[in-house]
Amino acid sequence: MTDVQNQVAIVTGASRGIGAAIARRLAADGFAVVVNYAGSTDAATKLVDGIKKTGGRAVAVQADISDPSAVKRMFDSVEASHGGVDVLVNNAGIMKLAPVAQTDDATFDRTIAVNLKGTFNGMREAAKRLRDGGRIVNFSSSVVGLYQPAYGVYAATKAAVEALTHILAKELGPRRITVNAVAPGPVATELFFEGKDQATIDSIKQMNPLGRLGEADDIAAVVSLLVGPDGGWINGQVVRANGGVV
Ligand code: NDP
Repeated sequence: MTDVQNQVAIVTGASRGIGAAIARRLAADGFAVVVNYAGSTDAATKLVDGIKKTGGRAVAVQADISDPSAVKRMFDSVEASHGGVDVLVNNAGIMKLAPVAQTDDATFDRTIAVNLKGTFNGMREAAKRLRDGGRIVNFSSSVVGLYQPAYGVYAATKAAVEALTHILAKELGPRRITVNAVAPGPVATELFFEGKDQATIDSIKQMNPLGRLGEADDIAAVVSLLVGPDGGWINGQVVRANGGVV
């Protein structure tokens, strides 16, 4: 892949947070970007308008990634409108924290459905339909490594995503499609802040050698490398982008 101007990137969960930063960054890099979201139509539309105002190319496409037929429909619609797909950034995810003893079935099932099955749904569709030379970037987390209490089910889904990443990289190598995962540490987004008081946030900042939380743009920069012309030799890797916390 050299000329990203002819390339199309789907970013799942791009209506806010890390996904929105990735969409903005890839559009600035020259990709035509598909801003996927589940429910936040207004935020996704606003992001697309913002990208267009700065000269980028973007469209919003609704699809709940936990639904395989919705993911298939998203690829159908992007192929119809753009002629093909080159990059899938499997960013959408949810995080509900609870110790194992207090985790209810609904939380377990939904976390698996979005983080593991949803990422799998995207990987499977991309494996069938990405143009040769394409790129897949999955989202893990540095909790795979830190293994803090209360992150059990969430960490389990991310560890499973890492396993799928290594295997799909081997399966798609013959078509020159790379498959990697990014594993951020704590990043200042709604997902991270939900349910945390200021003292907890401060202690998490202090744990980090660089003394701060990650910003969504820190992570978007890593994705930009992995999907861009300089990232082609990075394959089957999990890139922990976390300021050195683990
Ligand atoms: P946010 O909660 O800020 O944003 C999540 C995004 O995912 C939203 O755009 C949301 O859109 C979308 N989304 C949620 N469920 C679905 C679904 N079923 N189908 C499609 N889209 C969906 O999360 P972050 O930006 O913080 O996280 C992005 C990724 O990074 C996740 O995979 C997360 O696990 C990972 N990560 C985050 C870290 C952090 O500290 N923030 C650390 C390590 C990893 P909508 O509102 O429309 O549902």
